[in-house]
Amino acid sequence: MTRDTALRSEPDTSRQILLIEDEARMRAMLTDNLEFERYKVIAVASGEEGLEEFDRHDVSLVILDLMLPRMSGFDVCQRLRARGSRVPIIMLTARTHETDRIRGLDVGADDYVSKPFSVRELLARVRAQVRRDDWHSAPASEFTFGEVTVKLRSRLVTRNGRRIGLSPREFELLRYLLAHRNEVVSREQLLRDVWGYHHLSVTRTVDNYIAKLRTHLESYPHEPQFIVTVHGSGYQLVV
Ligand code: CA
Repeated sequence: MTRDTALRSEPDTSRQILLIEDEARMRAMLTDNLEFERYKVIAVASGEEGLEEFDRHDVSLVILDLMLPRMSGFDVCQRLRARGSRVPIIMLTARTHETDRIRGLDVGADDYVSKPFSVRELLARVRAQVRRDDWHSAPASEFTFGEVTVKLRSRLVTRNGRRIGLSPREFELLRYLLAHRNEVVSREQLLRDVWGYHHLSVTRTVDNYIAKLRTHLESYPHEPQFIVTVHGSGYQLVV
């Protein structure tokens, strides 16, 4: 394989890359090359492990194989996005079908590389994603608005210092709204990214969950101050 030292970016040892690839040889080869580029690499063989490691580390980029045992790369990608993470994701796949590429981008991948690929090309794409990524400097893990404090890592939500028990889905919805705070998000976007639904017939579900979150978090749920309705468009967390 070629290692292009001339194109090497300045070493940035704070960048951690999560590599999810079940083929041991491919995993070792990519780890070797990425470490040569001075990235820290967390390499795992399954989507389940990948999601666990993602929660444990401050990951700057995910390289995700599509064909994984049990949980596919699509599923992993969708779960990461459903958590509100905007970490850059590059998908790797042996498939070349257009539909897979489109589906990959649909579930939130930023880039897509078909095997066999040249390592140089992949590294160039990694650099491009990392560079593009302001995300790294801004992954706040704690938010406060009004009487509410949200600690994402420990999944702790308090209001006036008292713990609020949110259901897992309510928490994921809140996490997503925080990740997109001060942006208008549509019901369709919430269904796709928080629920993983691609059929848009049940937007009422979103309204019900929004109502529950308001009851938990707002002083006057019927006159919400933070989780506001943008008529005709969706919802916006104003913080
Ligand atoms: Ca594979």
